[in-house]
Amino acid sequence: MSYLADLGEIYLAPNYEREPIIFVRGEGTRLFTDKGEEYLDFTAGIAVCNLGHAHPQLVQVLKEQAECLWHTSNLYYTEPQVRLAKKLVELSFGDKVFFANSGTEAVEAALKLARRWAYQNFGGSKYKFISLKNSFHGRTLGSLSVTGQPKYWEGFEPLVPGVVFVEPNDLQELKETFDETVCAIIMEPIQGEGGVYPLTQEFIAQAKELCQKYSALLIFDEIQTGLGRTGRLFAYEHYGIEPDVMCLAKALANGLPLSAMIAKKEVIDFLTPGSHASTFGGNPIACAVGCKVVEMISDPTFLEEVELKGKVIMEKLRAYQEEYPGLIKQVRGKGLLIGIEFAIEVKPIYQELLKRRILTTTPKPNVLRLSPPLIINYREIDYFMIQLEEILKDIKT
Ligand SMILES: *Cc1c(COP(=O)(O)O)cnc(C)c1O
Repeated sequence: MSYLADLGEIYLAPNYEREPIIFVRGEGTRLFTDKGEEYLDFTAGIAVCNLGHAHPQLVQVLKEQAECLWHTSNLYYTEPQVRLAKKLVELSFGDKVFFANSGTEAVEAALKLARRWAYQNFGGSKYKFISLKNSFHGRTLGSLSVTGQPKYWEGFEPLVPGVVFVEPNDLQELKETFDETVCAIIMEPIQGEGGVYPLTQEFIAQAKELCQKYSALLIFDEIQTGLGRTGRLFAYEHYGIEPDVMCLAKALANGLPLSAMIAKKEVIDFLTPGSHASTFGGNPIACAVGCKVVEMISDPTFLEEVELKGKVIMEKLRAYQEEYPGLIKQVRGKGLLIGIEFAIEVKPIYQELLKRRILTTTPKPNVLRLSPPLIINYREIDYFMIQLEEILKDIKT
């Protein structure tokens, strides 16, 4: 291990399991280590760097904004923040935007908004959240409380009360769970950290219907699926069903901390002055970069390319699945958010890819997740597929 990794071991909180790799530079789909080794990035920093590393146009915007204005607080208006809000509203179902700095904060804002909206419209008995088993919504106490994976709760209970979990895609259970005491249901159109599990059209349609029937809010956590990841600007577009509230983060500023909660006017207007806030939220530098990100990603041709590249990978993976049925159980996902479920522990495959200098993630012990920068090209995709096939062949024999 290198000196820096040793120092990190001493001085950093032990809450991450890190590879002993030190990256010093990034360019497009590539990351370079302190030893000059080059890695092909199929993680995009966990679906964050959708436009790749150090994109020249983003660097340009960042530099210009850095020389101009860094921070004012939200006691004043800044041009990048207003411009980004306007863009997001024009491109989505929403009417107004609240900015924060991370995914979990966007989820917290959505939960607080739902409680307040329900309280002021219907009184204090309408406070319950429905969330899905196997979901992931963040690590602060509120968002953790709606995260449907008990392993993340360990040692942190009691959690925020009033949360009920239902099985994803179980129409019956959802119907039986819903009543007037529910203020909101929160869901990821594709469960990302859960292992890339898409929700069905029927399930989302029924959630929408029940929300309308019982006057509850439909919250989409698009922190991982949003901003072009699935081949549409927002994953809800695949379903043709609009939420009342949506959370964005990860890719919004391509790696700078920025998140957003977007909502319909009649809902978000309950966030009256002083009811919620964030000191850094909507920071001018992050928002300036965010404007450029959204401008580039929302280009229809760019999105078509993402969808096509995703199809190419999925087709290849499905061919591998047929060829190695004892190894690959299922291939799931949309666009460039892809999960490969193996019949075996995925760690050796992940390790072998790493040895071949390809970065991937393993959200579940038997799932390999591919979330490359959306700018990945076909040559790089081919290279990845060949490497993966060699590994599968080796395991089989
Ligand atoms: C990553 C993620 C979060 C949490 O985002 P942070 O920025 O880590 O707080 C919440 N929801 C989903 C769906 C995510 O993928």
